[in-house]
Amino acid sequence: MNEVSPRLAALSVSATLAMSQKSSELKAQGVDVINMSVGEPDFTTPEHIKQAAKKAIDDNYSFYSPAAGFPELRKAIAAKLKRENNLDYTFNQIVVSTGGKQAVCNTILSIVGPGDEVIVPAPFWVSYVEMVKLAEGKNVIIKAGINQDFKITAAQLEEAITDKTKALILCSPSNPTGSVYSHEELKALADVIAKHPHMYVISDEIYEHINYIGKHETIAQFAEIRDQVVVVNGCSKGYAMTGWRIGWIAAPEWIAKACIKLQGQYTSGTCSVAQKAAETAYTGDQSCVETMRRAFERRRDLIYGLMKEIPGLQINKPKDAFYVFPKCSSFFGKKTPDGKTIATSDDLAMYLLEHGHVATVGGTAFGAPEYIRLSYATSDENIARAVERIKKALGELK
Ligand code: PMP
Ligand code: GLU
Repeated sequence: MNEVSPRLAALSVSATLAMSQKSSELKAQGVDVINMSVGEPDFTTPEHIKQAAKKAIDDNYSFYSPAAGFPELRKAIAAKLKRENNLDYTFNQIVVSTGGKQAVCNTILSIVGPGDEVIVPAPFWVSYVEMVKLAEGKNVIIKAGINQDFKITAAQLEEAITDKTKALILCSPSNPTGSVYSHEELKALADVIAKHPHMYVISDEIYEHINYIGKHETIAQFAEIRDQVVVVNGCSKGYAMTGWRIGWIAAPEWIAKACIKLQGQYTSGTCSVAQKAAETAYTGDQSCVETMRRAFERRRDLIYGLMKEIPGLQINKPKDAFYVFPKCSSFFGKKTPDGKTIATSDDLAMYLLEHGHVATVGGTAFGAPEYIRLSYATSDENIARAVERIKKALGELK
């Protein structure tokens, strides 16, 4: 009775969305919670993009779009890949989906079958391993802690590859760590991947534009693995368009075709009006991207400067995205003022929410239980208040 399928039963709830929901519930009860759990820009969508959507409504973009997305948008994305990344893709290698999330999931479901191994460097974004489970694949986790700036080495990758390896999921710039692979580091990984033509790389680059080291580097630039790479990207982060639900892949044509077939059966093309807005995002004035990036960089400096002074936390300086991922395991085993023991980072996140009124996400769902994630995509004032509260709450653990 009332039993979901084994496939669903095995799936975890999204920890990022769950924590954000909890924070909203407390807020609704009148508690002054600072939400640093979910990762989404606090900026509103730039005006010219909103105007394009309004025009699309008036122009009656109210019908189904092709399952792969409007050709104009796919061409605009191919042009963006050439302009910004010097990558050559034809528009039929681009598939537009309902957010980066669906783009990643489509790709996994298209290439991963039962028993296939998928290498996922940890810390990882929460949804990757769950999507692999949905595809009945096997997650092979490679650990990369703060001492290696959360990045795997070529030797670690080589060691993890077997005959059953189907894919590596690489996230650079990274959620949740804020780390970024350099050109040389990506080249070293590419050299390993080139030796194993049976495997693919799903390269999640959704934080491309929120980058504090200058140029974005993509693993797709290395010609020797070109046919093994699927680039995932979208409008959510760089253009402050999380709710519009526009993501996409650039892939070998056979993978693009598989994703089109898949989404043709379970979502169809994504929202037509949002696609027209996305077309303007890619073809219009890009200065909004830089304005938001600068604000994130200022906030990165602010939060890093404040948090590195908190006793008991170990923190690296993020180079991109809008997350800090401090190590917090020195607090494990300590007691809260009401006598509860902090055993895990999830306990710590719950304590910070209930006691300090700051919503964060414990590291377990990111495959890194000794850490905790905070999103600093919020105002300078909120950042300063939140860190003060965290410092006070941590100081009360005995
Ligand atoms: N990949 C990563 C690493 C992300 O952080 C997110 C944001 N949740 C996504 C993909 C999905 O993005 P979207 O909101 O466009 O579905
Ligand atoms: N990327 C965001 C995060 O990691 C959005 C939430 C989600 O889609 O999981 O918080």
